[in-house]
Amino acid sequence: CGIVGYVGSKSVVPLILEGLSRLEYRGYDSAGIAVGGDGPSLELRRAPGKLRNLEAVLRDQPLSGTWGIGHTRWATHGRPTEENAHPHRDCTGRLVVVHNGIVENYLALKQELAAEGHTFVTETDTEIIAHLIEQEIRSAASSGKTMALEDAVRRACRRLTGAYAIGVISADEPDKIVAARNGPPAVIGLGKDSLGEGEYFLASDVPGILHHTRNLYFLADGDVAVLTRDGVKLTDLHGEPVTRPVQRITWDP
Ligand code: GLU
Repeated sequence: CGIVGYVGSKSVVPLILEGLSRLEYRGYDSAGIAVGGDGPSLELRRAPGKLRNLEAVLRDQPLSGTWGIGHTRWATHGRPTEENAHPHRDCTGRLVVVHNGIVENYLALKQELAAEGHTFVTETDTEIIAHLIEQEIRSAASSGKTMALEDAVRRACRRLTGAYAIGVISADEPDKIVAARNGPPAVIGLGKDSLGEGEYFLASDVPGILHHTRNLYFLADGDVAVLTRDGVKLTDLHGEPVTRPVQRITWDP
């Protein structure tokens, strides 16, 4: 339902929590966050109910880092439990996905992935997206190739039917968020930190990031965005570059 992501130099946890709270008007039943730290790993915290429950979990088990993604969930497939809250992991636990929308062919994909040896721990449609992306990386590796996260996301998205706005991060590719859209809105924010270095934001709606930057790209259906500390690259689902105008938002939420 609500998505906020960030790559930059700031402390990501408060930034994502604040962004998610500005999207609360959309309604949700659980919330979660994944953060990349200094080492090559991702850490997750999730909680059913209000954002204050997630904040309480984070007070008990703090996280720190400068890149990550957060989500407030409006359950469509699977009860509103901690287990079913986003972000969702692949088998390795090194790659996570947040998702708005519904994957209509998730049962067929789940069967196919189960036959490849994937095991699932949630009742959600979203979890299969993480496994589908991992499967692409795994298949490439088995023929001796390395597949970049964005290539795996593009290939996975081409298999999905239904509606999605997703944010994906991987412990193996620090300081990178890959986002894709088909249906539910997704916006990319272009900002600068206090030292003038680039910082980039992902959100499901403008109010989630408008207090940080007013310069936004609105993704079109079929767009894939790669956010790193060096900038944002936009392509279609086949990796062909696309350009979208930078829109300057002058209104206040
Ligand atoms: N279909 C997904 C789920 O039930 C995403 C729901 C949402 O848009 O928040 O987990």
